[in-house]
Amino acid sequence: MFEDRTKRTEVSSLGEFGLIDYLTKDINLFNDSTEYGIGDDAAVINPQGKKVLISTDLLVEGVHFDLTYSPLKHLGYKSVIVNLSDIAAMNAIPTQITVSLALSNRFSVEAIEEIYKGIKLACKQYNVDLIGGDTTTSKSGLMISITVLGLAEEKDIVYRKGAKAGDLLCVSGDLGAAYAGLLVMEREKSEFIANPNMQPQLEGLDYILERLLKPEARVDMVNIFKEIGVKPTSMMDISDGLGSEIKHICKQSDVGCSVYEDKIPIDQQAWDMAREFKMDPTNLTLNGGEDYELLFTISQDDYEKVKGVNEIIIIGYMTEPEAGINLITKNNVSAPIKAQGWDGLVDSNEE
Ligand code: ADP
Ligand code: MG
Repeated sequence: MFEDRTKRTEVSSLGEFGLIDYLTKDINLFNDSTEYGIGDDAAVINPQGKKVLISTDLLVEGVHFDLTYSPLKHLGYKSVIVNLSDIAAMNAIPTQITVSLALSNRFSVEAIEEIYKGIKLACKQYNVDLIGGDTTTSKSGLMISITVLGLAEEKDIVYRKGAKAGDLLCVSGDLGAAYAGLLVMEREKSEFIANPNMQPQLEGLDYILERLLKPEARVDMVNIFKEIGVKPTSMMDISDGLGSEIKHICKQSDVGCSVYEDKIPIDQQAWDMAREFKMDPTNLTLNGGEDYELLFTISQDDYEKVKGVNEIIIIGYMTEPEAGINLITKNNVSAPIKAQGWDGLVDSNEE
């Protein structure tokens, strides 16, 4: 989509060092904490008295992404975003990344450059420095491993384990849209395989496709929490479905939870797509993944501070662990949220 397919430079014509030089020649550094970036055996970071947070993700072609519908630039962007999201989920600010690539000879210099355009765009957008990486060959497709570093004051770091009974459960935005986008892309892909002359039917689906292909990390929430003077009691990012993430918080905090079905935010496009695929829209939010919103709990004492904030959507409250993890449906029936979906006795969407 972005690639100029008319031009193809083999990686072998530049060599590994030539390729690294070519990809990293115009790297900008934004952070004072970066003392030395690319070019030596290791980068040098100065955390300036703060705590350093580290997270890493490995993305494998055919497992985590499908190049038939992921443009390379978007893939580069998203690879960075999924890492930044993990740092935001700790209530910290991401500051540096390293990028490691395993490339098969299927990828030209131009193709790799597209991935880097996406990586650099994400770095610029989020003020993150690309400070190193590794480049090697692969015999089976593309692999991208990114490690992110972030900084925070010790007192500000939020873990998954701090939720208490009575806390409010919140999310930072709508859910299910990325999975709705994936359903569309998988459908279009199989229709294309069946009939290569088919034109993809993607009109009016821009939001869900963007949520899938070019998600954002909610680093802005870290600043919002600071501005309003609220520290969540627990937090994580929603990379799997809401249902499984709620379970992580409940397990690590030793609490239960009640979630109101009618409070779970879902975009209209995602809702319509769930209906088109004959799925329960609530199940889309509970089991769809890759929304990269934040899921967090706040103390009831902070209710006044968060109630006017658009980015903070209260969807339920934490309970004693014995009460379990439940969905309170639109018909006001309480049903346990299971690994897949919820144990609905009634289809609450038949209104
Ligand atoms: P080494 O032999 O120590 O692994 P390399 O020759 O692989 O060193 O890397 C040289 C420099 O280029 C290092 O600073 C390394 O972090 C950086 N680098 C290597 N590959 C990449 C990449 N794909 N993206 C960004 N920086 C890279
Ligand atoms: Mg190396």
